[in-house]
Amino acid sequence: MKYLFVALCCMVVLLLIWINRVRKSEAELKKPILHLLWLAVFMVVIKGIFLICENRITATLAIGCYYSGIDWLLIVLLSYEEAYTQIFRGNKVFKRVTYGLAALDSLSMFLNVFFGHIFVVVQHVYSDGYDEWSIIRSTVPFTLHLVFTYVLVILCVSLLVEKTVRTPATYRRKYLVVLILLLITVVVNGICMLAKSPYDISVFFYCALGIQMSYYSLFYNPKGLIDSTMALVVADISDAVFCFDIRGKCVYTNKMVGEYFGSDTNFDVVNLMFEDRIKEYSKSEQESAQYKVQREMDGKLRFFDVSYHKLSDKKHRYIGCFFTLRDRTEEIEKFKEEHYRLSHDKLTGLFNREYFFEAVEKVLAANPDVEYTMVCSNIKGFKLYNDLFGEKKGDEVLKMEAELLMQNAGDNTVYGRISGDEFAILVPTKLFTPDIFIHNINLLKERFNSSQYQMHIYIGIYEIHDKTEPVSVMCDKAKLAIESHRGDYNAVVTSYDKKLLAKSLYERKIVGEFDRALERDEFCMFLQPQIASDGRVLGAEALVRWQHPERGLVFPGDFIGVFEKTGLIYRLDRYMWEQAAKKLREWKDTGKEDMHISVNISAKDFYHMDIYRELTGLVEKYDIAPENLKLEITETALMTEMKNQADLLGRLREFGFRIEIDDFGSGYSSLNMLKNIDVDIVKIDMGFLDKTERLERGESILNSIILLIKNLGMGVITEGVETREQVDSLLGMGCNMFQGYYFAKPMTIEMFEEKYK
Ligand code: C2E
Ligand code: CA
Ligand code: CA
Repeated sequence: MKYLFVALCCMVVLLLIWINRVRKSEAELKKPILHLLWLAVFMVVIKGIFLICENRITATLAIGCYYSGIDWLLIVLLSYEEAYTQIFRGNKVFKRVTYGLAALDSLSMFLNVFFGHIFVVVQHVYSDGYDEWSIIRSTVPFTLHLVFTYVLVILCVSLLVEKTVRTPATYRRKYLVVLILLLITVVVNGICMLAKSPYDISVFFYCALGIQMSYYSLFYNPKGLIDSTMALVVADISDAVFCFDIRGKCVYTNKMVGEYFGSDTNFDVVNLMFEDRIKEYSKSEQESAQYKVQREMDGKLRFFDVSYHKLSDKKHRYIGCFFTLRDRTEEIEKFKEEHYRLSHDKLTGLFNREYFFEAVEKVLAANPDVEYTMVCSNIKGFKLYNDLFGEKKGDEVLKMEAELLMQNAGDNTVYGRISGDEFAILVPTKLFTPDIFIHNINLLKERFNSSQYQMHIYIGIYEIHDKTEPVSVMCDKAKLAIESHRGDYNAVVTSYDKKLLAKSLYERKIVGEFDRALERDEFCMFLQPQIASDGRVLGAEALVRWQHPERGLVFPGDFIGVFEKTGLIYRLDRYMWEQAAKKLREWKDTGKEDMHISVNISAKDFYHMDIYRELTGLVEKYDIAPENLKLEITETALMTEMKNQADLLGRLREFGFRIEIDDFGSGYSSLNMLKNIDVDIVKIDMGFLDKTERLERGESILNSIILLIKNLGMGVITEGVETREQVDSLLGMGCNMFQGYYFAKPMTIEMFEEKYK
């Protein structure tokens, strides 16, 4: 009995420790478990009291409490099982009935102290003086108590049995173990009861049951659950998984392996695939590794990312490994497509501008010893071609050009379309043969030339000296070379030299200075006298000079062309016309109305302003005679759109202006023009006559032209007259107006006025 008591004390300590652990748990079942465990503590304590108490009433009370404790223990067990098994939930009537019956049984047990109607406790004294309590049960009420408790037991057992049967195999153990212990407890309790032994040890089983149940419901994770979860995850992931044992033999592959490599993939093939890697990695310290492989499968190259993982036991001994394979083919193809889209021109398939620059940089950096040439091509007036024949046809030209250029392709040659009709090629200087380009351009011309459109493609070349220079600058230089042969239709290929860059920089600079110059009156009018055959000064031609703050006096040859190219010329001309009109007004006011001023009209002026309105406006503004403001228009300016020009000239003449054809004889078809356009004076430039060769022939042509002009009723003025002989011979031919250095060079207004007024 002493040992039993000690065992009970140990049980209490054990239970309290366990309760402490359970209280820390966060699980949902914590509450009923704690009820169960505290009841078990209560039962053990009561049992202990019963064992050691001397007083019969106390012993009777203790054993009564113990019996009703069993009722409550079973009720708590049942409600715990409800939660644990998730069966039989929320049956309130049943709950109320069982609680009521348990309460009645407990009350009856308590009253037993007074009435002894269930059992009586008697003291049994042994011969050695050792005594203990024994219980004498009266049959009927005790049987009722037993029936109630066994109904509860049966319910508890059946709930567990049902759950055990129904639950998936993985979870079965959780319920089966509890069920077995419960059954053992019942059996032990029954045996103790039947044996009427005072050493009823079933209380230990109750406690063990409580502890075990709480363990399974709070802390236990079925191992199979985790294993099968893992197995399922591995089986289902989108990577192919291969497991190898310690000998390097494949022992597992998931279903993705079948999808990647075909369902008939056998382990031998797999072993071969990884053999070398396994050998390498298993010897190294490496826990994991990543690498990439490409494999041709069904005639298509596929890309895989592979990762290797070492498997070790707890003592870090190698036990095997696994590989995962991810198919990256689609991703890589998409990336390649995207990269292609971003780096290539859609129409021609050549690199686009940005990527061409990048590729050139790379090639130059990778071949520091190779000399390279940058070649750029440009189609003259390609916009016109598009307008005439439509964009589709234009695209065809570009496509064919790209194809032809590519025929030159060699190692380390980079091709790009850098803008609309501009192509650029980086080619090793040794491989560059302009003839091939010229030949290809001729092919292109043959194909696309028509009566409406003459194709001109120009090639600019820049031999790269400084490889660190930005590629865009290299292209600019090659393009600059193209600019230099503008107008010369026969020069197809032109090289860049330093002068070109200087020229381009100069042009850019003066364009930038234009506004300021105009605003600050840096442009000034010089006058060159025009003389009659009798030596009388008839007037002057207004010629512009730029009084530049840094460069001094700049001549028109240095800027007129640039301003014509950049569309600024009309503003300069308008300014010059106004200066001339102002001067004429001044002369008029001082009573010198007999002199004219001829002003120049550039071919580009017609595009940018309403010449008629400007000029008539000036005449009205300054109230001058229109015949004193003579207009010089070059032959070439009149050639373009002759019909419109003829109308305009007609209106100007009607208004009273005198019109001169400037530089007559320098253009293409002077004679034809004379037929169509009415002008007052034709100005022939002596400078156009070849001075050294075939002088006679030139003179006889000049003679005939002057005759023709006079016969058509127009006046003739010769400019560029430098010698007495020229004057004499021109006089002989019937020319009666002259302009040239022989008489005077262009001069400032002040000088002119001083000299001739
Ligand atoms: P242009 O209209 O043919 O002007 C005649 C040019 O020949 C002037 O050159 C003049 O200085 C030069 N010259 C005159 N006599 C002789 C001579 O005996 N021998 C030689 N060798 N040259 C002579 P400049 O002033 O340098 O002008 C050059 C060109 O610039 C002009 O040719 C004209 O086309 C253009 N230009 C000048 N001023 C203007 C202007 O205000 N507006 C426009 N649009 N163009 C202008
Ligand atoms: Ca002129
Ligand atoms: Ca002229």
